[in-house]
Amino acid sequence: MANISLKELKFNESENPRGKILSTVDKKLKLNHLEKKNIRILLEKRKKETNSLRKKNILENIIKSLDLSLNHEINDSRENNFRLNLQETNWLKRFPSEDWVDYLIYRYNLRMFPKNQILTKFPPYVLIEPTSICNLRCIMCFQVDSSFTKKEFMGMMPWNIFKKTVDEVALNNCKAVTLASRGEPTLHPKLPEMIEYISQKGILDLKINTNATKLNEKISRSILKNNVSELVFSLDAGNKETYEKVRVKGRFDQVLQNIINFNKLRNEEYKQSKCITRISGVKVLEEQDIDQMTSFWKEHVDEVAIKPATPRWDSYNNEKYYKKEPCTQLWERIYVWYDGKLNPCDFDYKSFLSVGNIENSSIKEVWNSEAYNLLRKKHLDKKRDNCYPCDRCPL
Ligand code: SF4
Ligand code: SF4
Repeated sequence: MANISLKELKFNESENPRGKILSTVDKKLKLNHLEKKNIRILLEKRKKETNSLRKKNILENIIKSLDLSLNHEINDSRENNFRLNLQETNWLKRFPSEDWVDYLIYRYNLRMFPKNQILTKFPPYVLIEPTSICNLRCIMCFQVDSSFTKKEFMGMMPWNIFKKTVDEVALNNCKAVTLASRGEPTLHPKLPEMIEYISQKGILDLKINTNATKLNEKISRSILKNNVSELVFSLDAGNKETYEKVRVKGRFDQVLQNIINFNKLRNEEYKQSKCITRISGVKVLEEQDIDQMTSFWKEHVDEVAIKPATPRWDSYNNEKYYKKEPCTQLWERIYVWYDGKLNPCDFDYKSFLSVGNIENSSIKEVWNSEAYNLLRKKHLDKKRDNCYPCDRCPL
């Protein structure tokens, strides 16, 4: 993708490139009085039971958030207060009350700790990459970088690496896992088994991102019966022409049919499924009409969101971006690549920042390692300039 540059996308310090939702289906969604009352009772109960002052404070802050209006941004790194967002409200409405408090504590830690650079013992959020291979070549994606789509970087996650990862995640009580990263997860032949394995481990927030081109009945059934909380369809337009301009090699009609088939299955055989579906797109072209896209897809999914693109189709050659704030991802998440490599983000899709591999180490060791802490220190000391490719990343 040669004709979109960081400059043209006009990143603005006042914008949040990670998650400003430009459009969403249900802006009116909120918890009703009774739901809030019940959540408050459970939070107060947990607060009484805990001896830790730190946990009491967290619970108190969550209780206060129940009186605040809904936050319509996801991954908001600017706001100081914790305010429930659309995604969390939707989760609370669907999942049983016995999980509410643990879920809210996990969400609080995930959103508030990284922005205040508070380091947890284990990453609050783990993204597992079933494969780095993708069948599309979306114009704003690193899959268009031909120096990346070489044998050296492409592969499928072996079961032993997957199992080791998930077992460690569960052992450390981590509540959030996403199956996806640099490639298309539905291309992994064992994706249904992976979903089933994770679902037995008490993960509260299991998300799958897919381009939906290969979403078939077997995968859909596995998603619907195994407590996947969010199924995210990555697409960016409500018409064939624009969709196929952005999602190169994708076919609009096929993706639409796959989503229709998924809904049919959900409505006819898995009415109890708590899985939320969301269109999540990125705005890269002028002609993407967000209102048209939202009105087209709202018939087919629970949520629609579109956000500004992050310039990561050629990350390493971006112009330098003089951002001084520490990158929140260093305190928030870790990516496990298909080959076990551990990386702080997928902006760095060729793993220059990688500081370990799960094959000969653990996530916990790497997360707390000297090398990882050195990277965090560079960010805290406003020395992103000494760190490649952080020096050219807007996140
Ligand atoms: S954005 Fe997703 S679907 Fe598109 S090429 Fe990249 S990995 Fe594949
Ligand atoms: S490249 Fe650096 S600044 Fe950008 S997301 Fe990765 S860790 Fe954060």
